[in-house]
Amino acid sequence: MKKIKTLSAACGAVLLSAGLLAPVSAAANPGTPVNQTYSVEGFISHEELGRKLNQIEKSSQGQVDVNTAGYSNMGREIYTARVGDGDKVMLVQSEIHGNEKTGTAALLNMLQQLGSNGSKEIRSILNEVTIVAMPMVNPDASELNRRGNDLSWNEIIEDFPQLENASPSWNYYTYTNQYWDYESNPGFDVNRDFNPDLNYQPSPEDFPGASSKPGWFITPEAQTIRDVYKGLIKEFGKVDVFVDLHHQGEYFVEGTKDKVTLSLSGSFVPDPASKAGEKYEEYADRYDGDFSKQLNVAAYRALQTRGNSPFDHISLYPQDLDLPGTALGSFALNGSGTVLFEVTGQTQSYGQKKRGQLVNAVEMGVYGILEGVASGDVYAIDVETYEDIPNTER
Ligand SMILES: [Zn+2]
Repeated sequence: MKKIKTLSAACGAVLLSAGLLAPVSAAANPGTPVNQTYSVEGFISHEELGRKLNQIEKSSQGQVDVNTAGYSNMGREIYTARVGDGDKVMLVQSEIHGNEKTGTAALLNMLQQLGSNGSKEIRSILNEVTIVAMPMVNPDASELNRRGNDLSWNEIIEDFPQLENASPSWNYYTYTNQYWDYESNPGFDVNRDFNPDLNYQPSPEDFPGASSKPGWFITPEAQTIRDVYKGLIKEFGKVDVFVDLHHQGEYFVEGTKDKVTLSLSGSFVPDPASKAGEKYEEYADRYDGDFSKQLNVAAYRALQTRGNSPFDHISLYPQDLDLPGTALGSFALNGSGTVLFEVTGQTQSYGQKKRGQLVNAVEMGVYGILEGVASGDVYAIDVETYEDIPNTER
């Protein structure tokens, strides 16, 4: 990891040569740069994840229920860990981009605590909320410490013969650079493979698609997450809250010299009731942008309680996005209150101490959401206060 200084220059070159991130503006392209590298020291492997979940399940004495929801393309388990038995449901996932790892550590800490801590606060959360955690949902990417999964277009055609003459999707990576070799080991950005129509079947005319168009559920990882989401709708009527844990580059809180610790957002597609969101009209009855904003404020406020500290350096992720192919965009259109966490990237430049702090910040934010939903306080939050969260200076 001695190449930190050349990273931003290299990144520009990659974007150009790869030509895969068609809309190059930062706002249209959330998440870490494609070639962002991390020291993975201190973060767990997929095998360790399985062991750790097993351990948490055992020590929780039946409180935490771990299951295999599906498998990655390379046959690795994609787990759900469920705890609580409330009527409200929160689905929270991490590492859909395999080089964005703090979310997995935060989820494991939370599952451990929720499954074993008998405090009044925890009990009230578990009485009101059913929490379904999906840590490391893209394990093939995690093992390769990269953004994209491990799947070729030829394999897609084997699964979906109707796509034989279609162009590979726009989020298919085949480039090589000093960091990644997608050329010999291609893969997809799984977080562009979602479709608000949860029963969508891939059709050749929808390829190669684009950032502002829905995805196709062609990757087994997106299919697994979609199936878990649909299962919860069947069981509970809806998924009240969906939280997606990511990393971004390094930025400043607007108008300050404070480095952003994490950015939040509740807006991934234009409101279907607005002019800009006309194409999503059929989802207008379900979409609840206000609730997403309230959930974000709950996370923000929880992080503010530490006062002037890195936990206070929280900003709003770029707004005015139109990303229906993201899990957040698709699930928001299906009526879930949605929250994006974008932890500051470049873990290697912070070392172990900072890593602990970043993981802790994610936990505090997610607990803020859980407590707000459990107590009902979140529903009383003034939606306008979302706008008080400072912007990100990019
Ligand atoms: Zn990401």
